[in-house]
Amino acid sequence: MPEKNEKLKRSAVFLDQGGTIIYDDRRDKNITRDSFIPGAFEALRKLQEKHLLFIVTNQSSVGLGKMSREDAECLNSNVMKMLVEGGIRITEHYACMHKRDDECECIKPKPFFLHKAAEEYLVDLQSSFVIGDHPHDVEFGEKVGAKGLYVLTGHGEKHRGDLPHGVTVFSSVNEASDWIIQQ
Ligand SMILES: [Zn+2]
Repeated sequence: MPEKNEKLKRSAVFLDQGGTIIYDDRRDKNITRDSFIPGAFEALRKLQEKHLLFIVTNQSSVGLGKMSREDAECLNSNVMKMLVEGGIRITEHYACMHKRDDECECIKPKPFFLHKAAEEYLVDLQSSFVIGDHPHDVEFGEKVGAKGLYVLTGHGEKHRGDLPHGVTVFSSVNEASDWIIQQ
């Protein structure tokens, strides 16, 4: 009964991890509060009042042999732990640890994890948002009708010129979150 399910559907914000909520150069699994982009905690606290939160990260450094899978998993669980301690509830953390040459199904911009979230948590993708510092984050969202927001932290400044025309650009996740809340 799709009509009934439509009413239960919720919007979500899908956040990139490295460069968007934590600094991208912090490959060290032992992160601290200083590893987070300024304003990230405030941003997520605001967003979770109206939206489910997900983290979707490409960690190709694992596939490329620059970081072990164990260290990446440890980093991810530390991120989640610190967010929980900060009063933030992330519904699910999705990580693709393949390198692009692996041609896996889960690497962004392929919308694998968006569809997975939609299925598992009844997320309405059309009323959802993606925030990230790579053009592929914007593409990831737009592929499924979500709104892709680009931030200039992490690699954002470097890849700004590769963005398609008309993408909404913000200085950081906090500014992007303020915009989402006003929609
Ligand atoms: Zn993958």
